[in-house]
Amino acid sequence: MKATSDRFVGNAREALADGRLQAALNNFTHTFPEKRRLVVDAVPEFDRLRDIGIGIKTHVLDNLDFYLERFEARVIEAGGTVHWCRDAAEARARILELCQAAGARTVTKSKSMVGEEIAINEHLEANGLEAIETDLGEYIIQIRGESPSHILVPAIHLSGEEIAGTFKEKHGDLPPDRELNEPEAILREARAVLREKFLAADVGLTGANMLIAETGSAVVVTNEGNADLIMTLPRTHIVLASIEKVLPTLEDAATLLRLLSRSATGQDISAYTTFATGPRRENEPDGPQDFHVVLLDNGRSRMLNGDFREMLRCIRCGACLNHCPVYAGIGGHAYGWVYSGPMGSVLTPNLLGAKEAADLPNASTFCGKCQEICPMRIPLPDMMRRLREAQFTGGGPAAKGRPFLRLWARLARHPGLYHRVMALGIGAMRLLAGKRGRFRRLPLATGWTGPRDLPAPEGRTFQAQWAERRRSGR
Ligand code: SF4
Repeated sequence: MKATSDRFVGNAREALADGRLQAALNNFTHTFPEKRRLVVDAVPEFDRLRDIGIGIKTHVLDNLDFYLERFEARVIEAGGTVHWCRDAAEARARILELCQAAGARTVTKSKSMVGEEIAINEHLEANGLEAIETDLGEYIIQIRGESPSHILVPAIHLSGEEIAGTFKEKHGDLPPDRELNEPEAILREARAVLREKFLAADVGLTGANMLIAETGSAVVVTNEGNADLIMTLPRTHIVLASIEKVLPTLEDAATLLRLLSRSATGQDISAYTTFATGPRRENEPDGPQDFHVVLLDNGRSRMLNGDFREMLRCIRCGACLNHCPVYAGIGGHAYGWVYSGPMGSVLTPNLLGAKEAADLPNASTFCGKCQEICPMRIPLPDMMRRLREAQFTGGGPAAKGRPFLRLWARLARHPGLYHRVMALGIGAMRLLAGKRGRFRRLPLATGWTGPRDLPAPEGRTFQAQWAERRRSGR
């Protein structure tokens, strides 16, 4: 997936003006937070679980090399192979080699954000392989030639009508007058089309929500069961996962699973949670003949030793997206790369570089909701603030406001003058706003007034009201 994070402001403007997208987002951002609230309220020990989960992830990050080596040893004992990849190019090349060694023509895939991160589909297709997404949302956006707009619900930006239209256009061998008005009909059609692909696949490529060091297992969580078919039907199963996904024990995985599904989709538990350990054994009826794990670093080691280490606790639940007012307004495509919302605003600059994602840390109101609901209590606002500081000192977009801040600071050093200027400014704004009491457009605040009106200030300044209260002894 090509990064366009540097076009965030333009992307956001387009998203705000897109009525269909706004309707889809409005629907989604009201349902997910409510579902989460209900299931979390039903677990009185949820906060205690968060503490335990944070403890597990912190311990892993402190001992990452140890647990990764233990994981590799267990995978080998189970008959599999681990491939260590420093960056996206290495991971792409290794996966292609494995597919070619398996004589693959068709590769079935389950949803994997790391797969998006390294653009594996594009690479396989460019080398003559057919890579098929089998998660319904991912399949829909794949045939539309789009990227995911949410890390969990990739097609959340689309209406049922748009999806039906896409199916009619892309499944050209089916009767054109078939009914696709109901979600069940769309689902039935996707299932029939994908069934052929499941059966034809030579290689199955999955992500992993967790890797278990004590058993060498990859844990894959879905609600559709597609990953289970990918793991069992093809001859070769390749797991693609980033290094911070490793956990010490199965018990640790059980703790994080309780946090993950509740935070992600508002479910007590996802429909399918599968533990894949090595290739098929002699007495087993199904499973792959070859089992590979491609372990990707791609900048995580650098993060481990820096200010953004805590971001590696992220379990990709998507809760920070679902509760973010900025994401709710613009959706995921505006962020221009794989990761969106508050977690994307921190992760993307770390993985792609601050220049590529310069505006993302500014895509926050700092309301603090993301940190409040994050099951790993990742200090996302603090991290965005740190990225803004780095931009400011490094002369990035945040530094554009420097002359204005300098003027403000000079003024604030003289309280009497400051109060007078503020009182004058407020009076002038009230006059200019007139009877409407709001501005459609303000020359020095077009970023604010482009998508919304700015209400004119009401009453007097805070300082004037405060001074009056003191004078009257209230
Ligand atoms: S940052 Fe927190 S809330 Fe956001 S996806 Fe990661 S774990 Fe979930």
